[in-house]
Amino acid sequence: MATIFSKIINKEIPSDMVYQDDQVTAFRDIQPQAPVHILIVPNKEIPTVNDIKEEDKLLIGHMVLVAQKIAAEQGVAENGYRLLINCNKDGGQEVFHLHMHLFGGRPLGPMLMRQK
Ligand code: 5GP
Repeated sequence: MATIFSKIINKEIPSDMVYQDDQVTAFRDIQPQAPVHILIVPNKEIPTVNDIKEEDKLLIGHMVLVAQKIAAEQGVAENGYRLLINCNKDGGQEVFHLHMHLFGGRPLGPMLMRQK
């Protein structure tokens, strides 16, 4: 099902887009949680990681290479950054169009909140 991200990809609604090709689109998160917070999204509507198919292997690899290129362009490659994909409820996914978060520009701390 189409989400707001399809409208961003199709430029029906505005975004701060940093990259687009025939397979993926990348734009700044509307509520950034780090100085650099960019979403890398396949143009194809794949709802969650659970829906990735064998035929999407190259596309998923391409998303990572695009993230690598954007990290370099944004000046965070050397200090480091985090790539994150949330899946479904326990993963905290809110938009059901697959997307990879790229966070950087500050020390990001531990990966998960530590449980007591
Ligand atoms: P999720 O929790 O699904 O992994 O992340 C969804 C992300 O999409 C959130 O960080 C949220 O701020 C971002 N987001 C939701 N709606 C919009 C929008 O309309 N434009 C942009 N640029 N980001 C959005």
